[in-house]
Amino acid sequence: MPITIMKPRDVGKTLDMQHIKPKGIPLGIRYCQECGAPFYPARQDQVFCATACRRNHHHRREGRAAQLYDFAMNWRAKRGRGGFAEMCQIIDGFRAEDRTRKAKHAEIRKAYEKQRKDGSP
Ligand SMILES: [Zn+2]
Repeated sequence: MPITIMKPRDVGKTLDMQHIKPKGIPLGIRYCQECGAPFYPARQDQVFCATACRRNHHHRREGRAAQLYDFAMNWRAKRGRGGFAEMCQIIDGFRAEDRTRKAKHAEIRKAYEKQRKDGSP
Protein backbone atom coordinates (compact mmCIF):
# COMPACT_ATOMS: atom_id res chain seq x y z
CA MET A 1 0.00 0.00 0.00
CA PRO A 2 1.56 3.33 -0.99
CA ILE A 3 2.17 5.82 1.78
CA THR A 4 0.41 9.09 1.11
CA ILE A 5 1.88 12.23 2.49
CA MET A 6 -0.24 14.13 4.96
CA LYS A 7 -1.02 17.65 3.92
CA PRO A 8 -1.75 20.37 6.44
CA ARG A 9 -5.26 21.69 6.84
CA ASP A 10 -6.61 24.13 4.28
CA VAL A 11 -3.73 23.64 1.95
CA GLY A 12 -5.76 23.85 -1.22
CA LYS A 13 -4.07 25.83 -3.93
CA THR A 14 -1.74 27.69 -1.60
CA LEU A 15 0.49 24.71 -0.78
CA ASP A 16 3.62 26.53 -1.88
CA MET A 17 2.68 29.73 -0.06
CA GLN A 18 2.01 28.04 3.28
CA HIS A 19 5.26 26.13 3.39
CA ILE A 20 7.69 28.90 2.94
CA LYS A 21 9.55 30.18 5.94
CA PRO A 22 9.87 33.97 6.34
CA LYS A 23 13.20 33.83 4.55
CA GLY A 24 11.57 32.02 1.65
CA ILE A 25 13.07 28.59 2.23
CA PRO A 26 10.41 25.86 2.01
CA LEU A 27 10.05 23.53 4.98
CA GLY A 28 10.94 19.99 4.03
CA ILE A 29 9.12 16.79 4.77
CA ARG A 30 9.06 15.67 8.38
CA TYR A 31 7.92 12.49 10.07
CA CYS A 32 5.26 12.62 12.76
CA GLN A 33 6.55 11.83 16.26
CA GLU A 34 3.33 10.01 17.06
CA CYS A 35 2.36 7.98 13.98
CA GLY A 36 5.54 8.23 11.91
CA ALA A 37 3.70 9.48 8.81
CA PRO A 38 5.51 11.90 6.50
CA PHE A 39 4.01 15.39 6.40
CA TYR A 40 4.77 18.93 5.33
CA PRO A 41 4.99 21.11 8.44
CA ALA A 42 2.98 24.31 8.45
CA ARG A 43 5.17 25.79 11.18
CA GLN A 44 8.85 25.60 11.99
CA ASP A 45 8.26 23.84 15.33
CA GLN A 46 5.58 21.37 14.16
CA VAL A 47 6.37 17.78 15.15
CA PHE A 48 2.97 16.07 14.76
CA CYS A 49 1.14 15.53 11.47
CA ALA A 50 -2.31 16.28 12.89
CA THR A 51 -4.18 17.42 15.98
CA ALA A 52 -5.22 13.83 16.68
CA CYS A 53 -1.57 12.76 16.86
CA ARG A 54 -0.66 15.68 19.11
CA ARG A 55 -3.54 14.77 21.43
CA ASN A 56 -2.67 11.06 21.44
CA HIS A 57 0.89 11.90 22.39
CA HIS A 58 -0.18 14.15 25.26
CA HIS A 59 -2.88 11.76 26.48
CA ARG A 60 -0.37 8.93 26.67
CA ARG A 61 2.06 11.21 28.50
CA GLU A 62 -0.61 12.26 30.99
CA GLY A 63 -1.78 8.67 31.45
CA ARG A 64 1.75 7.52 32.20
CA ALA A 65 2.27 10.40 34.60
CA ALA A 66 -0.95 9.53 36.42
CA GLN A 67 0.08 5.88 36.62
CA LEU A 68 3.43 6.83 38.18
CA TYR A 69 1.76 9.34 40.50
CA ASP A 70 -0.72 6.76 41.78
CA PHE A 71 2.05 4.24 42.23
CA ALA A 72 4.30 6.68 44.10
CA MET A 73 1.51 7.85 46.42
CA ASN A 74 0.54 4.27 47.24
CA TRP A 75 4.17 3.24 47.70
CA ARG A 76 4.85 6.11 50.08
CA ALA A 77 1.63 5.54 52.06
CA LYS A 78 2.40 1.85 52.57
CA ARG A 79 6.17 2.35 52.82
CA GLY A 80 6.56 -1.09 51.29
CA ARG A 81 9.73 -2.76 50.11
CA GLY A 82 10.65 -3.20 46.47
CA GLY A 83 8.86 -0.05 45.40
CA PHE A 84 11.76 1.34 43.45
CA ALA A 85 12.18 -1.86 41.46
CA GLU A 86 8.45 -1.88 40.74
CA MET A 87 8.59 1.73 39.57
CA CYS A 88 11.48 0.84 37.27
CA GLN A 89 9.37 -1.99 35.82
CA ILE A 90 6.57 0.46 35.04
CA ILE A 91 9.03 2.80 33.32
CA ASP A 92 10.64 -0.07 31.42
CA GLY A 93 7.16 -0.93 30.13
CA PHE A 94 6.78 2.62 28.82
CA ARG A 95 10.18 2.40 27.18
CA ALA A 96 9.33 -0.91 25.53
CA GLU A 97 6.14 0.64 24.11
CA ASP A 98 8.16 3.56 22.76
CA ARG A 99 10.71 1.27 21.13
CA THR A 100 7.94 -0.70 19.41
CA ARG A 101 6.35 2.51 18.13
CA LYS A 102 9.69 3.91 16.93
CA ALA A 103 10.46 0.65 15.10
CA LYS A 104 7.14 1.04 13.23
CA HIS A 105 8.05 4.66 12.44
CA ALA A 106 11.37 3.54 11.00
CA GLU A 107 9.53 1.05 8.75
CA ILE A 108 7.13 3.75 7.54
CA ARG A 109 9.98 6.14 6.87
CA LYS A 110 11.99 3.51 5.01
CA ALA A 111 8.97 2.55 2.89
CA TYR A 112 8.20 6.19 2.13
CA GLU A 113 11.79 7.00 1.18
CA LYS A 114 11.94 3.93 -1.07
CA GLN A 115 8.66 5.00 -2.68
CA ARG A 116 10.08 8.49 -3.34
CA LYS A 117 13.29 7.06 -4.72
CA ASP A 118 11.31 4.82 -7.07
CA GLY A 119 9.51 7.88 -8.38
CA SER A 120 5.94 7.27 -7.22
CA PRO A 121 4.12 10.13 -5.45
ZN1 LIG B 1 0.82 11.63 13.02
